[in-house]
Amino acid sequence: MTHTKTAVVTGANKGIGFEIARRLAAEGYRVFLGARDRGRGEAAAAKLRAQGLDAHWLELDVTDDESTISAAEKLAAQTGTLDVLVNNAGIAEGFGISPLEEPIEITKKVYEVNVFGPIRVTQAFMPLLKGSKAGRIVMMSSELGSIQSLLDPGNEFYAINALGYNSSKSALNAATVSIAKAAEPFGIKVNAADPGYTATEMNGNSGYRTVEQAAEVAVKLATLGEDGPTAGYFNHNGVLPW
Ligand code: NAP
Repeated sequence: MTHTKTAVVTGANKGIGFEIARRLAAEGYRVFLGARDRGRGEAAAAKLRAQGLDAHWLELDVTDDESTISAAEKLAAQTGTLDVLVNNAGIAEGFGISPLEEPIEITKKVYEVNVFGPIRVTQAFMPLLKGSKAGRIVMMSSELGSIQSLLDPGNEFYAINALGYNSSKSALNAATVSIAKAAEPFGIKVNAADPGYTATEMNGNSGYRTVEQAAEVAVKLATLGEDGPTAGYFNHNGVLPW
């Protein structure tokens, strides 16, 4: 009997997450679209099912312990194992505010989704990922999390100085390395992906990349072969500096 591979993508009701879910489903995965809102989650999954894809809404608010545990339990009851987890859900706030003045409430709110969210979800789904022969975890980072890029005056993002958002993605990068080292003995590869500056609701559609282009690197890291990297940080051009 052929094993149907399974994938969970958080924040999959729109934007880059929806496109990652579509691509994985098109590659034959049974995809669970994590979304905190029933209406938005069901609508997104239904849109993929209408294209003949194996897609299902999974209620998941990445900031909520109970929601996350309950999502892992529901998945365990349905599949028993998980092959791919894409921690894509993220928020961007505090842009245009000086780091000297960003209200701590904004910084905490951003960390809750962008840092604690992926850590919480990864830990909750780890027993299911260990059940896969080749688990893959993708952390949706950003080049704004690259400390080296932000110190380079020639970098296109040098002037973007959002305290909470940028440092949340640096923290996520550090968590990626930490989790990757601990997950390696279980055959699980963990990498950070930068989708590039992409037109989504997050930035009022000001990005110059399409969601199709943005999803590419995450899908590649989600479907890595045995010889693929772990504890890495990549965009469409290859390796990014931490
Ligand atoms: P988006 O269109 O705003 O989508 C963000 C997704 O995250 C939505 O599905 C949203 O759900 C979900 N989300 C937010 N808070 C959540 C929570 N507490 N629990 C569960 N889901 C939650 O943004 P995007 O541009 O596709 O961003 C996707 C990822 O790529 C993010 O991690 C972002 O930081 C990263 N990224 C984006 C860009 C870019 O240029 N767009 C560049 C670099 C990195 P709701 O609809 O319920 O709010």
